[in-house]
Amino acid sequence: MKCIICGRESSKPVCEVCAKSIAMDFPFILNKGLVVSDERSELGDEPDILFHGDLERLNTLAKKALGGEELASDDYLMLSKFALQFHRKFSFILDNLELGDNYFLNLAREFASRSDNNEAKYLLAQAYFEAGAAEESETILDGIWQEHRDYALLYGKVLVANGKWGRAMEIYNEYLKENEEDVEFWSSMADAIYASGNYEDAERAYLRVLQLDKDNSRAWYMRGLCLKNMGKWGGAMQSLQTAIRKSPRYKEAYDALLSILMERGMYNRALETLKKMKEAGFDVDRKIAEVEAKVIE
Ligand SMILES: [Zn+2]
Repeated sequence: MKCIICGRESSKPVCEVCAKSIAMDFPFILNKGLVVSDERSELGDEPDILFHGDLERLNTLAKKALGGEELASDDYLMLSKFALQFHRKFSFILDNLELGDNYFLNLAREFASRSDNNEAKYLLAQAYFEAGAAEESETILDGIWQEHRDYALLYGKVLVANGKWGRAMEIYNEYLKENEEDVEFWSSMADAIYASGNYEDAERAYLRVLQLDKDNSRAWYMRGLCLKNMGKWGGAMQSLQTAIRKSPRYKEAYDALLSILMERGMYNRALETLKKMKEAGFDVDRKIAEVEAKVIE
């Protein structure tokens, strides 16, 4: 493929040279707001919509920082926070530019490392974790996790990713002793138990989440997986169906339900489920044909 800007041979529509030149002028890559307006919002509030003025401010500050200018600590924090957000929301832009998939995460790390306070360390730990470097993330959080609820929550997840479930559970337990009704902590606790392979206790922990928040579709889904792993098919199917009822476009829940139905030879119900998926907007025509063929057999 040839670069659409300069015509050089490139593996993506915009070659490395052109992409780097764009990144130099506009470190956040986007330079136009998502709505037509010159307005500026309060960037500190992590807005869903970015106005021209917001992007202009982000790009200008980022350019200064990358050019070696000294910024206020809060500015580094804001830039790092937005680079993380851009990674989560706008990574798909990177499909068109030869900048590497972790461009925004690298940016987040760069900004976070310019500031020295705990929040900056927390942002740095997030950027490492999301880039798949859970060990670096653990080292950073080791020293600060006790300072803030969110740090402890991330620390637990990082420990689970590093296979240290027991330690993660200890940390969650310690926090839950004082904050029994924190749904997110219960949910993370359940994930840690699930990762350790103890599906019976994990199921109980997901039930605790559901006692506090009965519409939590992920907990219904995860409870379904626990029951599936324990061979309790009926309960698993019910739990997965509840997850789907709460979130009608929950792809993983449909997939888990279908895998049980197919494994158990329940092709008619699999067909019903696929038709529901189709109604929900999933492209499942080929799968429907496959299962229909099995029903006829
Ligand atoms: Zn080019």
